[in-house]
Amino acid sequence: MQLSESNHPNQVTHLECSATGQHYPADRIQTISEAGKPLLVRYDLPSIKKILTREQLQNREPTLWRYKELLPLRAPPISLGETFTPLIESKALSQTLDLDQVLIKDEGRLPTGSFKARGLALAVNLAKSFGVGKMAIPTNGNAGSALAAYCSAVGIESLCFCPSDTPEVNLQEMAFYGAKTFKVNGLINDCGKIVKTGAEQGLWFDTATLREPYRIEGKKTMGFELVDQMHWELPDVILYPTGGGTGLIGMWKAFDELEALGLIGKSRPKMVAVQAEHCAPIVQAFEQGLDHAEPWANAQTAAAGIRVPVALGDFLILKAVRDSAGFATAVSDAAILKAQASIAKTEGILLCPEGAATAAALIQERKSGRIKSGSRVLLFNCATGLKYPMPAPIHRFDNHQNLAEL
Ligand SMILES: *Cc1c(COP(=O)(O)O)cnc(C)c1O
Repeated sequence: MQLSESNHPNQVTHLECSATGQHYPADRIQTISEAGKPLLVRYDLPSIKKILTREQLQNREPTLWRYKELLPLRAPPISLGETFTPLIESKALSQTLDLDQVLIKDEGRLPTGSFKARGLALAVNLAKSFGVGKMAIPTNGNAGSALAAYCSAVGIESLCFCPSDTPEVNLQEMAFYGAKTFKVNGLINDCGKIVKTGAEQGLWFDTATLREPYRIEGKKTMGFELVDQMHWELPDVILYPTGGGTGLIGMWKAFDELEALGLIGKSRPKMVAVQAEHCAPIVQAFEQGLDHAEPWANAQTAAAGIRVPVALGDFLILKAVRDSAGFATAVSDAAILKAQASIAKTEGILLCPEGAATAAALIQERKSGRIKSGSRVLLFNCATGLKYPMPAPIHRFDNHQNLAEL
């Protein structure tokens, strides 16, 4: 589906190196800066401020394209239906943990079943505008599905390089959308090297996390949407399952843009980066007071989306976490799976393991006292739980069995 002409009033002024501040033109294809760091999109916020009001925004369709003045589109976008995602209240968590409110933003409702659709909707539409013919991505599953779907929708070839233990359902999905899908004997950073090498040889465009400027612009719409849904307020704490960190960095950027537009005030939620015990480079760097994280050796977790041993935007994640007076914390796989099972049984909400990691972290950090009683807390469920393995204790039923025995 192609959206109408009025959906691309581009207000981009330039791109900016996130480390050095150096400016880059936005009217051509860009990757990372000369310093090797992510590029951030900058807008003419003073001009947008003159025209954009809360009321205007709220009268528009509830999709991520609602924030068109703050998106870098160069043509009407091809859309797969990027709807608002619901905030579901978890009464069980708020009651047992003595919290004012616990909301779960359920991103599993997006196209391809995960929030990767937000970033890739923007990245692929922009690549199309710049005439890119082939896009490649290193992926643990969800990013590949989203890339493959959007590439097929706009008519770009896609290639997905996946660690060999990527769940079959994700591999099948990517391939079914038409992506050339490869199992690689390595982790996501090994897949990243393959994609980078091919891009340097001019074979394709590198769509890896933060290696192009636009996925973050798609992901930042989580921040806009949240503020919009919470009636221009913010929660006290946001727990985010952190792999490459695009969403956390993106939301932090979104809050700054909204403040510059006079749509929200100065106060910010505490941003909590949640990682898995056996893949926690950001947590380690946070605790050691470092600006950059060391690559994590032998990364392992059932939460595939956060099995990211090296993040290009590590310094941006750490800065947002520290500026927000938040923290980074790691949870065990046992705690993740326990939280996932208990929330499914008590509340009817099927979290993906990464989403369950934020619930496990909330439980852990209420005990530690780092999250205070009475707080309003937001958890992210980044993908539908249906793509992940579930224990299935199914009973056998004999046709002659007495129903009263059941
Ligand atoms: C990609 C992914 C994450 C991590 O998101 P980042 O913004 O890259 O840190 C978490 N959960 C799921 C399900 C994902 O697919």
